[in-house]
Amino acid sequence: MKGLSNIALSVRASTTLAVDSLAKQMVSEGHDVIGFGAGEPDFDTPDNIKAAALAAMTAGETKYTPTAGIAALRRAVAARLLEDCGVKYESGKIVIASGAKHSIYTALRALLNPGDEVIIPSPYWVTYTESVRMAGGVPVIVEATRDEGFKITPEKLDEAVTVRTKLFIINNPANPTGALYDGGELRALADVCLRHDIYIMSDEIYCSLVYGGKKFVSVPSLGEDIKERTILINGVSKTYAMTGWRIGYSASNSGIAGIMESYLSHSTSAPSTISQFAALEALTGSQDSRDAMRAEFERRRDYAVARINSIEGVSCIEPDGAFYIMIDIGEQIGRTLGGRHIVGGDDFALSLLKNGLVAVVSGAGFGAPGYVRMTYAVSMEKIKEGLDRLERFVSGE
Ligand SMILES: *Cc1c(COP(=O)(O)O)cnc(C)c1O
Repeated sequence: MKGLSNIALSVRASTTLAVDSLAKQMVSEGHDVIGFGAGEPDFDTPDNIKAAALAAMTAGETKYTPTAGIAALRRAVAARLLEDCGVKYESGKIVIASGAKHSIYTALRALLNPGDEVIIPSPYWVTYTESVRMAGGVPVIVEATRDEGFKITPEKLDEAVTVRTKLFIINNPANPTGALYDGGELRALADVCLRHDIYIMSDEIYCSLVYGGKKFVSVPSLGEDIKERTILINGVSKTYAMTGWRIGYSASNSGIAGIMESYLSHSTSAPSTISQFAALEALTGSQDSRDAMRAEFERRRDYAVARINSIEGVSCIEPDGAFYIMIDIGEQIGRTLGGRHIVGGDDFALSLLKNGLVAVVSGAGFGAPGYVRMTYAVSMEKIKEGLDRLERFVSGE
């Protein structure tokens, strides 16, 4: 038989899902595993949002919608971007898709020619590199170190630019590090992009999950010239505990929005109608549950950061947003834990799961092999028990 697509063969399966499925298998076999692996809120979708979905079904809202989404939802996104991010978009520039992940892929399809380079800071969300490959582009990784707060500097960005650079992807606040860029840092990075005529994809899916009184700054709010070349990505999954509803959106200039709409019309037609009505309620209804979830995440972050740094041989920096912590396991490398020689995050995560019954994600898949990522989107009780287990595991007991 003839070979399969070279592009498809170059794509790696999601490592975050791999650890999660092994942990789930162990749970189904009766093991008491604490799961710090998955990247979704543990909260249930708020009741007002579920009720809106039921009402939509009852009212017969079960047919195709316009490709880019129902007009009311596009307007609601524009209104929320103005209120939360201080950035003004006409609703015609908002395109609704089946999850932010799908918005990202569709935007890459609109932007990239084969061989175009895309600069991605590491540690990165695994989907960026693979979706760039799926769209025929070439990921170019620029490392941001722990000492730099896991944020890339304008100098490093500038050095990575070549004649083939088309796009810079920034995730703010970031998965997996929780790093938050301030306005000045974003401005300096955007200036490099302006100077070299590079597009910016700003994934702001965690914009509402910012802690310690810090302020979130949206990239397109930095100025008209920057806004013109920015594709803003966001969605309801993380902010409203709606990961399973699959609604994401983009805001961009009309040229890009139009191409994305054409692509979507031939791939998904439109996102689920029922989910669009649920998202409409999420964005326009009471924001109380959103604010309560944010406050609870902050409480858990504060506990987890202090607890991790109290454990001999592991440490972390305090993340300012999202719901992840990168645990530095550098001191564990070279040791033998649970009968396994530790050379990096992969062995550590595997041995911790099998012997310590805690599921974390190896940093290797994020381009940071000396780390593992834990999420605090799990209950406080589980965070306490899981970190107690981590301490026992690294103490070799
Ligand atoms: C979860 C996540 C997304 C995608 O969310 P959807 O569920 O597809 O809307 C996008 N970017 C980052 C960084 C994420 O962590």
